[in-house]
Amino acid sequence: MVYLTGAGPGALDLLTIKALRVIREADVIIYDRLANPEILAEAKEGCEFIYVGKADSHHTLPQEEINELIYQAALKYETVVRLKGGDPLVFGRGGEEALYLRERGVKFEFIPGVTSAIAVPEYAGIPVTHRGITVSFRVVTGHEAAKEKSQIPWENYKSDDTIIFLMGLHRLEFIVSKLREIGKPADFPIAVISKGTWPDEQTVIGTLEDIVEKARGLPTPALIVVGRVVELHEQLNWFEKDASSQG
Ligand code: SAH
Repeated sequence: MVYLTGAGPGALDLLTIKALRVIREADVIIYDRLANPEILAEAKEGCEFIYVGKADSHHTLPQEEINELIYQAALKYETVVRLKGGDPLVFGRGGEEALYLRERGVKFEFIPGVTSAIAVPEYAGIPVTHRGITVSFRVVTGHEAAKEKSQIPWENYKSDDTIIFLMGLHRLEFIVSKLREIGKPADFPIAVISKGTWPDEQTVIGTLEDIVEKARGLPTPALIVVGRVVELHEQLNWFEKDASSQG
């Protein structure tokens, strides 16, 4: 059995009870860079660890090789845990891995994880929806955003949805220019949150005008939140101790 498991956004205590159960049972754990390595201390003695280090957009191992590696592990071991940051199916390629296993007759289960897309803004005191401000949110890949033939329908983004960009820090300038192009004002609120839910989480609050400058040099992983909800950070920030000095 292969468990395609979400590790949550970083903080150890955001791991689900179900994930913890299979981690304790695992014969092998195949894990990413984004999964908190402290989780591995929960594994039983003799459990094998395999690091496949995805860092943002560039993968240490090509996806095809990761698929094959998981499959080979499934042939060799009874309980395989494939541990991924956040939720396995939110830009996590869990679906691709599951298809590869299914085609080869290997049983799998998905174990949902707390996705960074929602939890990281939450730790920064930014609700992704808020009555009277926005009735919906979208989660978008910033990696895709900068491609020449981007599939992102920017024209649809004129609405008041909260927009959360994952994998977008290196494309921040491009994303900002696109949002300006579709008519968002220069003073529109935007936040960049670095290392969300970790002790060294940092939130930078700005506008489409100044965020590129303000967010320069922030460590990854980081995500981008665009929308009026960002203004709630000032009142709702609860996690970062020195955040009141920012923005
Ligand atoms: N499956 C994951 C997302 C994988 S894409 C999930 O559900 O959370 C990887 C991107 O997620 C990163 O580039 C970053 O934008 C975001 N991310 C993941 N963990 C994060 C964290 N602790 N703080 C900020 N952004 C994070």
